[in-house]
Amino acid sequence: MALAFYDTLRRELVTFEPLEPGHVRMYTCGPTVHDYAHIGNLRTFLFEDMLRRVLQARDYRVTQVMNLTDVDDKIIAKAQAAGESIAEYTRRYTEAFFEDLATLRVERAEHYPTATGHIPEMVALIQRLEGAGHTYRTEDGSIWFRIASFPEYGKLSRIDLSGMRDGARVESDEYDKEDPKDFALWKAARPGEEAWDTELGRGRPGWHIECSAMSMAYLGETFDIHTGGVDNIFPHHENEIAQAEAATGRPFARLWLHAEHLIVDGQKMAKSLGNFFTLRDLIERGYSPRAIRYLLLSVHYRQQLNFTFAGLDQAAASIERLGDFARRLEELPGDGEPDPALTERSARARREFEAALDDDLNTSRALGVVFEWVRDVNRALDEGRGSGADRPVLERVLAAFDAVYAVLTPDPAELRVDAGVEALIAEREAARRERDWARADALRDRLAALGIVLEDTPAGPRWKRSAGT
Ligand code: AMP
Ligand code: ZN
Repeated sequence: MALAFYDTLRRELVTFEPLEPGHVRMYTCGPTVHDYAHIGNLRTFLFEDMLRRVLQARDYRVTQVMNLTDVDDKIIAKAQAAGESIAEYTRRYTEAFFEDLATLRVERAEHYPTATGHIPEMVALIQRLEGAGHTYRTEDGSIWFRIASFPEYGKLSRIDLSGMRDGARVESDEYDKEDPKDFALWKAARPGEEAWDTELGRGRPGWHIECSAMSMAYLGETFDIHTGGVDNIFPHHENEIAQAEAATGRPFARLWLHAEHLIVDGQKMAKSLGNFFTLRDLIERGYSPRAIRYLLLSVHYRQQLNFTFAGLDQAAASIERLGDFARRLEELPGDGEPDPALTERSARARREFEAALDDDLNTSRALGVVFEWVRDVNRALDEGRGSGADRPVLERVLAAFDAVYAVLTPDPAELRVDAGVEALIAEREAARRERDWARADALRDRLAALGIVLEDTPAGPRWKRSAGT
């Protein structure tokens, strides 16, 4: 089956074909850097990482742009409250954001443009819209997009425009679908707020114009994929389409992909609701970043993901199972001819794994394929089939899995813990050699208290984390 994605605009699955053969241009709405990201935000960024990795695994070159919103209503208010400039205030959260992405093994996008670094591009786009008659100014000098001037307004979110009054305006960047109104392209400067002197007058851009201007600056007027969370569909992406297509007269993004929310007890995880965890919160509680990554990638992006700690424990256990399996492959004895049944079974796993991801990133099916294959291979090995000669074929399946999921190698903190565990095990071995059984037992108890299970094998002691640690 060919690679296909569900397009929010057409409300159907469409076969993917980039504008330029072999090259995908994609834009992802990035964070508003006014605070630490919560794991709901990170779910959306991980979905985009999976998308990028699958495209690359299908041999596409990807040019991904993720904007950083470093000026908006919230940032201005918080920077003022902190007595800092916008730049000072946003710097630490920008740094924290990149740290979080690296911790979660999110591949870096090609460009991370900031809103404050692209004011001239936004001004130029607003001027183009003014020239084409899509805007009006109010007395204070703010500039508004007249949605009645763009007949296709509403096509992405399919909102009902029948009750709308021409000229009704909304000043804030975020508002409800029930309330479509003309929105601000340029907000005139207010006393005490940071502002830019431009040909449009003194002021600052609205949130929506940022993404239209920066996406077109880096990717061209028409590009392949635009992504975000479902809360971005209205008004943000609806407004992006209006601004871009009204200015250029051309289609803007060819495919719109939206990730559903992470929820807690049936509610969206959100800063405003106070029901959120940051990545740092979970790491402090002892969860490994790769377990968090696995959990957030294990549910299809168009389904809500209900966050629970039990789910995180299961994710850690799944990774553990795959890690045990990878070690078993490393230690496969012997060589000779590969086992044809294992080769065939592995080729089928590869095919089915790829087909699942090609089907709109069907992650639960893809994981099901991998775990079934692991079970079948383990069974064959238990029966004495398979040898070192099968290792390359088997490891290629794991490599295809890890090119997308990226959870097999331990995190640095786990390795540091591992080094500590190994030192304790070595001490216990020394005590045993010296027949100091009391000390050997005490060390075993200490390891057990750390959640480490020891197994004495002919090749020496082996250790594992017990489930749930
Ligand atoms: P923000 O920093 O608020 O602009 O949000 C960054 C990204 O996170 C956007 O693409 C949002 O759609 C997304 N987002 C916000 N809340 C959630 C959530 N609970 N689950 C998944 N994605 C979310
Ligand atoms: Zn955006």
